[in-house]
This record gives sequence, C-alpha cells and structure tokens, in this order.
Amino acid sequence: MTVVPDITLNNGQAIPQLGFGVFQVRPNATVAAVTAALRVGYRHIDTAEMYGNERQVGEAIARSGVGRGDVFVTTKLNNGQHRPDAARRAFDASLKALGFDYVDLFLIHWPQARRGEFVGAWNTLEEFHRDGRARSIGVSNFHQHHLEALFADGGTVPAVNQIEVHPYLTQDRLRAFCAEHQIAVEAWSPLARGRIAHDPAIAAIATATGRTPAQVVLRWHTQRGDIVFPKSVTPARIEENFAIFDFELTGEQMAAISALNRNQRTGPDPDSFG
Ligand code: NDP
Repeated sequence: MTVVPDITLNNGQAIPQLGFGVFQVRPNATVAAVTAALRVGYRHIDTAEMYGNERQVGEAIARSGVGRGDVFVTTKLNNGQHRPDAARRAFDASLKALGFDYVDLFLIHWPQARRGEFVGAWNTLEEFHRDGRARSIGVSNFHQHHLEALFADGGTVPAVNQIEVHPYLTQDRLRAFCAEHQIAVEAWSPLARGRIAHDPAIAAIATATGRTPAQVVLRWHTQRGDIVFPKSVTPARIEENFAIFDFELTGEQMAAISALNRNQRTGPDPDSFG
C-alpha cells in the first residue's frame, strides 16, 4: 500500500502531498469518483464552491467509512464573495453543503484584484481560522504582488498558494518567493489537463523508468516539494496517479522535465480573471 508523505504547513498542520481534485467532475459523477479515490487510498480532496460538487464530495466521504478526521478537505471562497458578509455566508454554505463543521483548508479562489476586496476577504478568512472552522487558510492564483499586498496589511501568512504549475509552466520565481515566506505551493492542473501525456520528452522518461507519463510528471512535482491533486474520472487513472512514491527520478530526468517550461498557461492569468 502506497504511503503518501505529509507536508507540514507553516502553522504545523500536516497535509498529504498527493490528493484528488474534482474540478470539472460533474455532480452526478462526483460520488463515484471520490469513492474510487478513497478506496485507492487518497486522503486529501480538493473542491470549491465554483465546482458545484461540494455536497457530493461530503456525501462520498460520509458513506465511505473513512473518518472525517482521516481525510483532508479543501474548499474555496468563490469569486464575487469577497466582502465580509458575503464571505461569511459563502463559508457557512460550503460547510453545510459538505456536511462538515470544519474544513481542513479554506482558500480565496482568485484574487480578483480589480475589485480591490481580497485583503478584506483575507481578514474574514482569519476569523474562520480563529473560530476553528478552517484549520488552515490560504490563497489561490496569487501572484507575488497579491501576496505582498497581504503582507503589507500584516496578519497571518497564508499556509498555501494554489497556483497553476506543470512542466510547461514551472513557476520558478513565484515558487521561490513562496518558499522564502514558508508558503506551501499547491500545483493545480499538474498534468496540464492531460496534455503532458502526449509529450515525447516525457514519454522517453516514462519508457526509461517503466512508468506512465502521468506518473513521471506527478513524481516530478512531488520531488520538487509541491502538493498535487490530479483529477480523473477514470478508475484506472485514479489508481495510476496514486502510485508515484515507489520510484525516483534522477537529477538529469528532473532537469529535462523542468526544461520543457514555456510559461504556457492552460487557464487564465490571475491578473486578468474575474
Ligand atoms: P489535471 O492536470 O489534473 O488533468 C486532468 C485531465 O487529465 C483530465 O482530462 C483527465 O481525464 C486527464 N488525466 C488524469 N489522469 C491521467 C492519466 N493518468 N493519464 C492521462 N490523462 C489523465 O487538471 P485539473 O485542471 O483537473 O487540475 C487538477 C485539480 O486542480 C482540479 O481538479 C482542482 O481540484 C484543482 N484546480 C484548481 C484551480 C484553481 O483555480 N485553484 C484551477 C484548476 C484546477 P479523465 O478525467 O477523463 O480521466
């Protein structure tokens, strides 16, 4: 049985380095996907109000027989909900949908900097952390300048920054900035939404290691120290993506994958989204 390493966040809380993401998993497919993931051994689920499947995530966990305390669950504050009252209502609604009295991690999903409300939203997330309903709080899609705006306001340093990272967008500068400030990096779309499966350089390393392209890339992420939660609705891939802790990439293989960087996003730039 695979043992997933924990990463210790800046507040001392442990988070499994490998989890399961449910973006674009339709609500009516979510119970089956999360159930399959929990059976394989995943103990970390990444959802969001925006994904429309919090209720089904909570239902799958409740039915699984896995104790609430044994699974790490993240959800996120949706766009347009940054004002304090809206954020409080949204957080209550997320807990209710999940059927939980706390989440392990609650994130601001996007900074929406043009609205100028994310620092206030952060202060409201600090309330949820103080009252114990969010064990950790963090941000998502924050550039360095968004993080600097939070630092200027004082207060809690985010436990994580969840950003797009994969071999075509290695995010070296932002990752280094986060490391300097003890902010753990969570790499979203770790497989570049499946595109890395067709890359010849990755295929060559997959052949050399006797692994699949997805396993090679997930291993590259975790050897760099990032947290990942690949999404799949395909049972065989859910299993495949979990089996990455019984082999190691050489320094040369790591460098060859990092060299694929072309600063190419699969999603929007946080400066222009929302
Ligand atoms: P991923 O990089 O995880 O790729 C998912 C795609 O890859 C799906 O099409 C899936 O197909 C396919 N796939 C999965 N496993 C394999 C495999 N072993 N071989 C080949 N193809 C595979 O993309 P996501 O965008 O879903 O990102 C993962 C998670 O990150 C999300 O679910 C979400 O939790 C989070 N996220 C956060 C964002 C944010 O703004 N904070 C934005 C985007 C994502 P299939 O399902 O058909 O098997």
